[in-house]
Amino acid sequence: MSTKRCFYEVLEITKTSTSVEIKKAYKKQVLQYHPDRNPGDEDATEKFKAAAEAYDILGDDEKRQRYDQYGHAGVQGARGQGGGFHDVGDIFEAFGDLFEGFGFGGGRSGGRRTRARGADLKTALQIDLPEAAKGVDKEIEIRRKKPCERCDGSGAEPGHTPETCDYCGGHGQVVQSQGFFRMQTTCPTCRGSGKVIRHKCNTCYGSGREEEVVTRTVNVPAGIDTGQHLCLRGEGEAGVQGSSAGDLYIEVHVKEHAIFHREGPHLLCEIPITYSQAALGASIEVPLIDGTHSLKIPAGTQPSEMFQLRGKGMPDPRGRAAGDLHVEIQVVVPKKLSEEHRELLNQLAVHEEAEVHPHQKNWFERLKEFVTGPESDES
Ligand SMILES: [Zn+2]
Ligand SMILES: [Zn+2]
Repeated sequence: MSTKRCFYEVLEITKTSTSVEIKKAYKKQVLQYHPDRNPGDEDATEKFKAAAEAYDILGDDEKRQRYDQYGHAGVQGARGQGGGFHDVGDIFEAFGDLFEGFGFGGGRSGGRRTRARGADLKTALQIDLPEAAKGVDKEIEIRRKKPCERCDGSGAEPGHTPETCDYCGGHGQVVQSQGFFRMQTTCPTCRGSGKVIRHKCNTCYGSGREEEVVTRTVNVPAGIDTGQHLCLRGEGEAGVQGSSAGDLYIEVHVKEHAIFHREGPHLLCEIPITYSQAALGASIEVPLIDGTHSLKIPAGTQPSEMFQLRGKGMPDPRGRAAGDLHVEIQVVVPKKLSEEHRELLNQLAVHEEAEVHPHQKNWFERLKEFVTGPESDES
């Protein structure tokens, strides 16, 4: 912040300069450093940005007053963090009208025309996990505004036509002169369209647009995750009087799955096995999102032990390596026993009592130590 130059210095004016002088000073800098005149010159672009930032503050009476009183700290956050413009596009966005008076357009976006572009729309789409894993085509309904059929988008009742705006003479812009400085602004009567509708359409009341519901197919790529967005270009609202339509943004939500829990590209599932399978080792069938996979678990597998199946998780939408499937072993204890099963377990119990497993013995010794304290402490 401390390296920021004084805004008055940037525009080469003084604290007593009038608002007309400030505009004039800014115009001079714009003519000198405009990117159209200095293609590829980063230094010029920086100066162009600095001038716009200074003018953003000094060209506004209220901001200028705060700046005079508190310096840069007084106008922080006026435009994003710490003020300033992130790129040249922001400047055209902010001062587009002003640039038109300067003899060149509003830059790469072409200025005002883009503002009449139809609104972007947002919708949500819910899919399930196997669909997210494979990719899917989904039909969605879009409720949006389109050019009114009755008036063909003109806004005027059939038999009538919009008339040329008297105020601006059909230009859509009016020029205001202050001394030798000319400024062009959008016509307040026709709001820039250059036309005035005296007999408004009975369907759209002059807006030229009406609501429609259309169905479109969305190609959902494999591997998509909750919260990610897809975009259908030009499927938003129709623009006003022939300008381009907005876009449709689709926020995807992937439903929870009964068996698989998803964590980014990876999948997690719990597989129940029996005590004897865990003790003896076994070959078990593991479900995949599309099919099954045979997994060998070794003798002595413990409850909650994890096995990793590489590449059996979710695919990556950008084509990188797929995620993994993590299998967590659940050892299940039967709630009901057959007579034969009970008999076998009884035999096992007798055997286990006679020959307690060494690790269990160790555990009981550690427990005793914990309760009575280690023997070394008693000396
Ligand atoms: Zn209409
Ligand atoms: Zn007008």
